[in-house]
Amino acid sequence: MSQISNRLLSLSESATLAMTQKSRELQAQGLDIINLSIGEPDFNTPEHIKQAAIKAIENNQTHYPPVPGYPELRKAICARMKNSLGLEYTPDQVIVSAGGKHSLVNIILATINKDDEVILPAPYWVTYTEQVKLAEGKPVIVNTDINSNFKMSAAQLEQAITPRTRMLILCSPSNPTGSMYTHEELTALAAVLARHPQIIVLSDEIYDMISYGQKHVSMAQIDGMKDRVVVANGVSKGYAMTGWRMGYVCAPLDIAKACNKLQGQMTSGISSITQAASIAALTQSDEPSRQMTAEFKRRRDIVKSLLDAIPGIEVNMPEGAFYFFPKVTAFIGKKFGDKVIANSSDLAMYLLTEGHVATVAGSAFGAEGYIRLSYATSEEKLREAIKRIAAALAALK
Ligand code: PLP
Repeated sequence: MSQISNRLLSLSESATLAMTQKSRELQAQGLDIINLSIGEPDFNTPEHIKQAAIKAIENNQTHYPPVPGYPELRKAICARMKNSLGLEYTPDQVIVSAGGKHSLVNIILATINKDDEVILPAPYWVTYTEQVKLAEGKPVIVNTDINSNFKMSAAQLEQAITPRTRMLILCSPSNPTGSMYTHEELTALAAVLARHPQIIVLSDEIYDMISYGQKHVSMAQIDGMKDRVVVANGVSKGYAMTGWRMGYVCAPLDIAKACNKLQGQMTSGISSITQAASIAALTQSDEPSRQMTAEFKRRRDIVKSLLDAIPGIEVNMPEGAFYFFPKVTAFIGKKFGDKVIANSSDLAMYLLTEGHVATVAGSAFGAEGYIRLSYATSEEKLREAIKRIAAALAALK
């Protein structure tokens, strides 16, 4: 008999981490692999943020912090919500956790009962389905494609709702597609939700600072929605702080209190040093973040034109985050030697082993026929990687 719980046996390994692992193995064998499977900025944390952490250590800010985060940090988060989205939250509606991922699982565990249905527009970020399963909820997938710019329509949402639906998870700007919902699109979804008051929205806004023109809109800003929306965010992507592990939620008070209770029994408050660094990130100049976003935009434009030039690839223009999600169905069913490329997973593996470029199969995000490419790497590497991808694809018969 297995010693491992059924809860854990039903969980999948992270596909993105698996790809990173495989490419590390090939690198260890001496192969020159370009890694476009990564989900983190290739920039270092800005200096003033690091200095705030060093100061916290020197000042012995090393004792147990409050479970939901220092009041100063939660106040800074409230100020950010007010300044960037015009939304009023009180510090007791804010819970700071060990990364965006931890914030999301807190909310899901705090609100989802066994067999509750959670609507996930696909392509979705790999972790959502697994966290819902951990809470014994049921992911209900709504498929979108490149023709709708990977966005779910109000009609699709309406069709997916049942009496058991309890939550909708939205991610805008999106990992893996870079798409962003507009105010009008969110308003149309909200009109459907108005008829189903039992549904709350978990709005993952971790890429909100990385958008290229279109203004980020939160579902919490849509009329009548704020009391039904939990906003999840963090400092990982916008401030290049993935290793610090800081995420937060802004939630209706009862949900925030439930997260606080859960976190009080699981992890307690997050690292005091990280909190000091996060206060600096949120209250001091955003200029380094703006510069990073400008650089991502420059690379996005380069990669878009390079991908457009590859016959058979179909690609949309991402509005935010740092990923492309090209459609690659033209290559599925083709052969390399006598090996058939049967799906996106085979294609990603072929691009890694023959083209020496690591990508992630669309199937990992619930969307067969696509692959995800991250452009959080240098222009030089991006140009070389796309050249290799083009050559590898051209070799398929
Ligand atoms: N949400 C999305 C859509 C992400 O892509 C990620 C990270 O890859 C996260 C949440 C989690 O961020 P963190 O590293 O802060 O846990």
